[in-house]
This record gives sequence, structure tokens and C-alpha cells, in this order.
Amino acid sequence: MTEGPERIKELIEFGVEFTNEKGKLSLGREGGHSKNRIVHSKDLTGREIERALLEKISNISQIKILEYYFAIDFLTRKNFKKRYKPKQKNVCYGIYAFNVETSKVEIITAGTTIIASGGAGQVYLHTSNPPIATGDGVAMGYRAGCEIENMEFVQFHPTTLYEHPDSNVPYVFLISEAVRGAGAVLKRIDGYEFMNKYDKRGSLAPRDIVARSIDNEMKKTGDSFVYLDINPVGLLKFKEEFPNIYEVCISKGIDVSKGLIPVVPAAHYSCGGIRTDLKGRTNIKNLYACGEVSSTGVHGANRLASNSLLEAMVFADAIYNDILYLSSKQKINLNSIPLSNIYEWNDDGTENADEWILISYDKFEIKKLMSDFVGIVRNMYRLKRALRRIKMMKEEIDEFYFKTKLNVDLLELRNLVTVAYLIVCSAMKRKESRGLHYMTDFPFTSEKFLHNTILKKK
Ligand SMILES: Cc1cc2nc3c(=O)[nH]c(=O)nc-3n(C[C@H](O)[C@H](O)[C@H](O)COP(=O)(O)OP(=O)(O)OC[C@H]3O[C@@H](n4cnc5c(N)ncnc54)[C@H](O)[C@@H]3O)c2cc1C
Repeated sequence: MTEGPERIKELIEFGVEFTNEKGKLSLGREGGHSKNRIVHSKDLTGREIERALLEKISNISQIKILEYYFAIDFLTRKNFKKRYKPKQKNVCYGIYAFNVETSKVEIITAGTTIIASGGAGQVYLHTSNPPIATGDGVAMGYRAGCEIENMEFVQFHPTTLYEHPDSNVPYVFLISEAVRGAGAVLKRIDGYEFMNKYDKRGSLAPRDIVARSIDNEMKKTGDSFVYLDINPVGLLKFKEEFPNIYEVCISKGIDVSKGLIPVVPAAHYSCGGIRTDLKGRTNIKNLYACGEVSSTGVHGANRLASNSLLEAMVFADAIYNDILYLSSKQKINLNSIPLSNIYEWNDDGTENADEWILISYDKFEIKKLMSDFVGIVRNMYRLKRALRRIKMMKEEIDEFYFKTKLNVDLLELRNLVTVAYLIVCSAMKRKESRGLHYMTDFPFTSEKFLHNTILKKK
């Protein structure tokens, strides 16, 4: 695909302010890159893109933003009342959504639906992902009959800020790879610079290699973290180029002037997701997936740093063009179907459980299980143990879900356990090591597995 530069130009036209140097875009460098090629906005690129896009759409009257709504499930044939049941299977007609302010479930019908619900990092104990990254879209897709692809390929970012286990933060702060791109190096607490032992690219080796190397060094030494030594960058340059990282380190009481930032790997990016083609189409008609929730194939088994915003932009445009094309050929009808054709959400017999403790308990258990048994380094024995437990939890959570009045925590828990199940099942299917999936009992890449792992609900 070659559309990246065009999309970046478009973002600049929309008002995104990327960092410039001497009138030219400043290009950063991250793990595995052979040259500087990353357009960025200081160290808050995503936030700047989001700011400009929100500003842009605030003037477009056809776009209505519904805040405080939580998508529960896609509307498909089974949700239609008997006499209106469409003939065709595998078509999406919109969603059931939970209105957080009224606690009611609403039906939102649509000619086409695009799911862009982000990643699933919250399935792990330590993650750089925000609390919303509970894999909702993947779980919705699985329930609706989407093909779910390559969920075993979970990227762990090597350098997130170490937090004390008692700190109980919902996600850890990421120390961008660009800091290593600017010259910082990884060291053990005893000062040993270990990365050259693992890869000739040293601290700038691809993420999977760096994350596994840190994991290995931590296991060998028993240390809880390693250091990112920013002395080669210099404090002045560090402050200037990474103002947000600098501020966060200071706010956490880290003495940056000494040049040592404690870091650990954390779950960061889900390469797998709802399988799409290069137009963003899923196997369900009128349903598209975009961004981290999707598996478009562009990341393969090992996403290269900073390719995900690019992917999201390129595929958003491809989806837009495909919808325009199909509607011009009258292959899709952009008018949504009447609400009265669809079953209303039925919560008869559900109760406000007084056992909410079960939700936080289950969430913690899933995260702990996934971190201990399905983390950076895996083996079949641990995966089998994880699967047995996840299956049992999934059954218990489903049972609790169907008898309990909805809230967001419960909806997220149901999705988390589904995503955990999908990651474990996918990992078990791949009896080799490839990209982000590393098995100690199958340490080599095998031609036999040179294919995507696809799961689909029967
Ligand atoms: C700390 C950090 C730094 C990163 N840095 C980079 C970088 O420098 N370059 C790069 O390319 N990538 C980077 N990434 C990855 C990249 O940011 C993400 O892959 C990307 O933001 C995903 O975009 P998205 O639109 O798919 O999802 P998101 O940006 O996560 O948006 C998903 C949206 O869906 C909403 N949502 C989720 N579930 C539901 C639901 N059930 N109902 C209703 N709404 C829902 C969420 O509230 C959110 O608004 C970084 C990621 C992290 C965590």
C-alpha cells in the first residue's frame, strides 16, 4: 500500500500540527527502522491528530456524536422480529448500544457500520493501553460471526515506566521508542548494557526482541525493572524533544537529571482482530472494521513501531471510498431499516446483583492469568492451563451477565474474557515461534504455519 503520504498531507490540511524542523517535517526513528521516517507531533502525536479531527468534524452537521454510549452487540438477522426476518444471513444492520446516562439499551440501525473500538491491552495486568481497550469490537465481532484473525500476535512494548505493584494504576505510561531512537540505551540495574548481546541493533532492535531480552534479564537477575539510560541523549535535548515524558517522570518523582528511567515491558498493541480485506470489509456484509480492532494483514506477525496510526488513516479512507462506490452502484442501501423490525432489548428477569465484587475479582483474575501464562514467552503447558481456566470463567461470566442488570463494567468483563479466550485459542493453534508469538517448546519458525490463524464462532 502506498497511500500513507497522501493521508498525511490530508491531515496537515485538516490542521494537524506535526513537528517541523527548518521548515520540513521532523522525522523520528523507532525500533527496527532502517532510517528516520516517523512524522510526529512532539511526543503526543495521537492526541494532536484527535484534536484536529474533532475540531474538523465539529462543523459538519451530518455527523452526530453520541457520547456516553457503549456498543454491546452488532444487529444481525437473529435480532429481527419473526415476520421481518431478512432472507440473507451474515449482514450487519447496526448495533445495540447501552446509554450510560439512562442505563437503557437503545437500538441504532445503520445502512453500514464501521467498528473502530481500538485495542485489547486491558486483558493483561501491565498495559500501556487506556482503560477503554477491552477488546469490545473483537468480542462483538466474534459473537456476530466475524472471522477473528491472528489474536496470538500481541505486541509488548519494551519500555513502559515501572510502577510499584501496589500503585494499582489502570495503565502504565509509555516511554516512546523515539527516546531510544534519539540515543538512549537499556541497562540492567547493575549498569550492564545487555542489548548488544541479543541483537546487533542493540537497544533499537525490533520490539519483540527487546521485550524478550528485558524479560530474560529480569528473570535472570530477579530485578523488577531495567533502566533506560538517557545520558547519551542529554537532558536538554530530552526535555526539548520529549516534554510530556519529562513532565510525567518528574511528576512520578523520578530524578531525570541522573539520566536513569526505570522501565518494564507491557502489553501494547493487538496485531490481530476482525479480519478485513484491503477495503476494510469484514466477512459480514455492511460491516467494516478499522484501526486496532481490525486485522488487515499489514502488520503481519510483528507490527513495526508507529505503523498503526498510518494503518488507521489509510484504511479509514479506503472504507469511505468503498462505501461511496457501493452506494453509487446501489449495492448497499444507506438508509437504515425501521426500528420496529427489531427486537427491543429484553432485560426481564435480570436483577441488580449485590455481588459487584465478582466483576473486579474476575477482571483481575483474567489479567493475572493472561500475564502469567500467555505473556511475552509462552509454552503449550501454560496455554492449556490458561484455556481450562478461561473457559470456566467464560461460562460463569456469561451466566452472571444474563441474570444481571447491565453496566459498563459488566459489559467490558464479558468482552475481556472473550478476547482472552480468543488469544489463548489462537496461541495454541500456532505450534511455532513467529514474530510476536514466542513458544519455548517450539522455538523455531515453521513453514507449516505460514498462514493466518482464523477463529469463527460455530
Ligand atoms: C501509549 C501509546 C502510544 C502509542 N504511540 C503510537 C505512535 O506513536 N504511533 C502509532 O502509530 N501508534 C501508536 N500507538 C498505537 C495507536 O495509538 C493505536 O493503535 C491507535 O490509537 C488505535 O486507534 P483506534 O482508532 O483503532 O482506537 P482508539 O484510538 O483506541 O479509539 C477507540 C475508541 O472507541 C471507543 N470504544 C471502545 N469500545 C467501545 C464500545 N464498546 N462502545 C463505544 N465506544 C467504544 C473508545 O472509547 C475510543 O474512543 C500508541 C498506543 C499507545 C497506548
